[in-house]
Amino acid sequence: MLTKTAVHSDNYPASLYVATVNKHENYPILQEAIEVDVAIVGGGFSGINTAIELAQQGFSVALLEAHQIGWGASGRNGGQLIRGIGHNIEQFRSQIGSEGIDAITRMGFEAVDIVKERITTHNIDCDLRLGYCDLALKPKHMDGIQEDYDDLKRMGYRHKLKIYDKSAIHEVIGSRHYLGAMSDMGSGHLHPLNLALGEAAVAKQLGVQLYEHSAALSITKGAKPVVTTAQGQVTCQFLVLAGNAYIGHKLEPYIGGKILPAGSYLMATEPLTSSQCADIIPQNMAFADLSIALDYFRLSSDNRLIFGGLCTYSGKDPSDISASLLPNLRKVFPQLPPLRIDYEWGGMIGIGANRLPQIGRLPDTHNIYFAQAYAGHGVNATHMAAKLIAEALTMQAQRFDIFDSIKHMTFPGGPALRSPLLAAGMLYHRLLDKLS
Ligand SMILES: Cc1cc2nc3c(=O)[nH]c(=O)nc-3n(C[C@H](O)[C@H](O)[C@H](O)COP(=O)(O)OP(=O)(O)OC[C@H]3O[C@@H](n4cnc5c(N)ncnc54)[C@H](O)[C@@H]3O)c2cc1C
Repeated sequence: MLTKTAVHSDNYPASLYVATVNKHENYPILQEAIEVDVAIVGGGFSGINTAIELAQQGFSVALLEAHQIGWGASGRNGGQLIRGIGHNIEQFRSQIGSEGIDAITRMGFEAVDIVKERITTHNIDCDLRLGYCDLALKPKHMDGIQEDYDDLKRMGYRHKLKIYDKSAIHEVIGSRHYLGAMSDMGSGHLHPLNLALGEAAVAKQLGVQLYEHSAALSITKGAKPVVTTAQGQVTCQFLVLAGNAYIGHKLEPYIGGKILPAGSYLMATEPLTSSQCADIIPQNMAFADLSIALDYFRLSSDNRLIFGGLCTYSGKDPSDISASLLPNLRKVFPQLPPLRIDYEWGGMIGIGANRLPQIGRLPDTHNIYFAQAYAGHGVNATHMAAKLIAEALTMQAQRFDIFDSIKHMTFPGGPALRSPLLAAGMLYHRLLDKLS
């Protein structure tokens, strides 16, 4: 029977990931005043991995999560671990030069390696499988695939890449919906909630103090920032804000004003037979098409088809997620019989105007850092952001400074107007995408 919960309830949504979560620890509520070197707000990949990186450097760290570890996008996403950071980074050439562009491109490779390394070093059980494909729906996408392939080769990308035209695409996907594809054996897919919880356990082992149900309600800036929660407070030398799309506007309007939350949704079918799996996804890869309103899908470790898409910008969730996603699934795999949908859920993606992750320091302070706005491509980039913040705190800020030097627009109109604005903007981009 389909399990449904409100997408924004205080508990984890009833996703496939929650149904298949590993045994894990619950962390306490902060109920005292503590002092640490670094306080982190947000218990998703950004916050947890910043905690790990800094604890490894000898900092004392406390992490505050408003709900539960991995409650946000990190525990709900498509689980696709894909190379690259940002979208169309060429747009920043005038700001950061060729060296900056090359550095971000290489960090887009390194980000995936950090995730893999964390999983293998700490033996995190999260179903990592290698193999990912970009899918082309129109000739323009095939041109883009060829360009990407050439750029990746030129940059020395060390994993196997292969381009498939329509006549060969059956090697990777049993669908006639696409013109072609490019596979990348360096990218892949995983169980994101188990990764987040496994990483939280690593942080704890390193001495990080983790608190759940402990929302940061206010920040007092100064030489030693103070973060106040309902029942406690943390005084720190450095503060890292990693609440991403869930940070809201009030805690720190400077970063709240630069990010727009957008809903993305997923469903998981009943387990498929092994012959159905072999027919539709013979090499167990993850897939995403190259349109703006993209479909993304893969198989779970128990052979369910996890199918996602449907970006919404209005702040309202679809009334029936699976009914909205099913037509897209049928378009891609019309050969599948009607399937029972066992889980549906959604979460908030944080999007900035230029779709580059925002990694920086608050302008009026020297000790408050932030990482957010991964635009739906954050499983890898969050891990890189964490490393860059740790580098900056240990006086090796060159790579951090590339991101910090990029200007990010503040959306006009405050929170009330931001979603309608994005809705209008995205509608325009989708229209252009459809027409080109
Ligand atoms: C449905 C969906 C599918 C996606 N699919 C993919 C994918 O397949 N591949 C990919 O690369 N990316 C994907 N993404 C994007 C990716 O999940 C995110 O970029 C990434 O998880 C962001 O991690 P984060 O730690 O920055 O934010 P989050 O994981 O959202 O964590 C932020 C946390 O901060 C907490 N918080 C906020 N404010 C406060 C406060 N005041 N006090 C304390 N805690 C606070 C929140 O409760 C939340 O748990 C997807 C996102 C969604 C929503």
